[in-house]
Amino acid sequence: MKNLIVLFAILLSISSCAQQKGDKPKSAFPVKEKIEKSESEWKSQLTEMEYYVLREKGTERAFTSELLNVKDEGTFVCAACALPLFSSETKFKSGTGWPSFYEPINAVNVAEEEDRAYGMVRTEVLCARCDGHLGHVFPDGPKPTGLRYCINGAALKFEKK
Ligand code: FE
Repeated sequence: MKNLIVLFAILLSISSCAQQKGDKPKSAFPVKEKIEKSESEWKSQLTEMEYYVLREKGTERAFTSELLNVKDEGTFVCAACALPLFSSETKFKSGTGWPSFYEPINAVNVAEEEDRAYGMVRTEVLCARCDGHLGHVFPDGPKPTGLRYCINGAALKFEKK
């Protein structure tokens, strides 16, 4: 019986590999389809702070997120649509007061857009599935990418491994 289960698991993994072949870009967490909701739907679903950050592109006050000091292993998902966005493995202490990561969990899950607000040119980071504003990415991060994804904790939820 045990052998049968193992065999089944092997077969399953082979078939899922075959399915992924040729898919571009490869993603462990594919963005299946866009999630679009009206602003009133988002408003009723999200907390005030989540709505302010995700839908109105606001920024939470530095050092206010309870996710700032999370050191457990797990995944940071979009607070609006639960798409996995960042792994705890890429979280680092930036000293900025916002949760910081050097890489998204998968490039396709995070969208980037030029942001020229407030007389600065920055790169805005958004959830690729629901277009929720997450924060910005800067080119002054640590190795191996040299990038610093400066993310509002209000835009994320932590799922402990
Ligand atoms: Fe999302």
